[in-house]
Amino acid sequence: VSGIEAIPRAAPDRILGLTEQFANDLCKNKVNLTVGVYKDSWGQVTTLPSVALAQRQIDADVELNTDLSYLPITGCPEYSASVLRFLFGESSPGYGPRLLREDRVSFAQTLSGTGALAVASKLLALFLAETVWIPQPSWPNHWNVFRSNGFADIRSYPYFRDGRLVVDEWLDMLRAQVRSTGARRHAIVLHACCHNPTGADPTRDEWRKILDTIHELQMIPVIDMAYQGLESGNPPRDAYVLRMCLDESRYECWPNGLFVCQSFAKNMGLYGERVGSLSVVVPPNESGTRERVDSQLKQIVRSAYSSPPGYGSRVATLVLSKPSLRMQWYKDVAFMVGRLNQVRRDMHELLGWPGLTNFEQQHGMFYYTGLSSKQVDLLRSKYSVYMTSDGRLSLSGVNDQNIEYVCKALKAVTR
Ligand code: PLP
Repeated sequence: VSGIEAIPRAAPDRILGLTEQFANDLCKNKVNLTVGVYKDSWGQVTTLPSVALAQRQIDADVELNTDLSYLPITGCPEYSASVLRFLFGESSPGYGPRLLREDRVSFAQTLSGTGALAVASKLLALFLAETVWIPQPSWPNHWNVFRSNGFADIRSYPYFRDGRLVVDEWLDMLRAQVRSTGARRHAIVLHACCHNPTGADPTRDEWRKILDTIHELQMIPVIDMAYQGLESGNPPRDAYVLRMCLDESRYECWPNGLFVCQSFAKNMGLYGERVGSLSVVVPPNESGTRERVDSQLKQIVRSAYSSPPGYGSRVATLVLSKPSLRMQWYKDVAFMVGRLNQVRRDMHELLGWPGLTNFEQQHGMFYYTGLSSKQVDLLRSKYSVYMTSDGRLSLSGVNDQNIEYVCKALKAVTR
């Protein structure tokens, strides 16, 4: 066979496949702990109060409400201004404002975090790097996105094994391998906080060592910030990796740029609205680098989808720019984190797993249980408790109604 008959079947998305299976499961005790969506203590996905208030104001504004025309290619100017202020003003108050004054950030409103990564990988592959490094383990879509957008050479660095981070091993391997590749140029994906799937993040001291090594090896950092706020409950505070990249004077600059891929899917609950951004910080010079990068971002976006959608970005703009809504948003994020941490404590009490409440290192929605794929299968087939096969458990699916059942099932399969 040839032509369309010869197209092979692509691997199914692991998580969405499980969601389908869950929907068809008839067990009345079934529990879905697979997806990275925040659910409240009644098991519902709800709209954050700050977002609901912003929506109401938009609905009441005839001009905003009825404007369905195209946004510019790289997004709505009000959105850009408020996200830039949020990322480089409030989240990195040291050096960030200077970057904005010097006009050194090329910016695009993107289709959430995935879209930011897609545009970033395209720009990197076209002009800046031949190799990209991704942590092992990582969000599986990282490989997909970089492969589909021009990277043939994708490598993984050791991040987490047998319940702990392996930072020294990671950096030793980078030093050995990056140096041995001669003139090849390298980008590296860093999870800014709440690492997916392990929930385990390096300490500030470890980050310092990591960034020193990346800088020394002249790699291009790609900061993937999909969970800003879900570590500490305070969105600006959680941008510490970005702050460290910008504010530590010893870095001076990142000579081939610093990429920040950011999303409001999780921290504003705008999942399906696809609201995010890509910022490319360029080195200081007079030669118009930022304008040239701008023009290439436009070209990439134009050829892929022309321009981003409007509604969700209006909501985010309002939440970010109106002080009362901004305060409410911070409360909403803190509330989500409070609940996730309470689930960690309650599960720890029932299971005795100390890792769950290792708050120094463990953050966000996910906990890596260390269950084998066989144990995960048993959990699903015998108890209808669904997790991804790597043993990742989404804490937000646990609540007062199901916690005892979930913990009993976890105990049974790990006995
Ligand atoms: N990066 C990581 C590590 C993620 O876990 C996710 C979502 O699960 C994303 C990026 C992108 O999410 P979205 O495109 O919904 O913003």
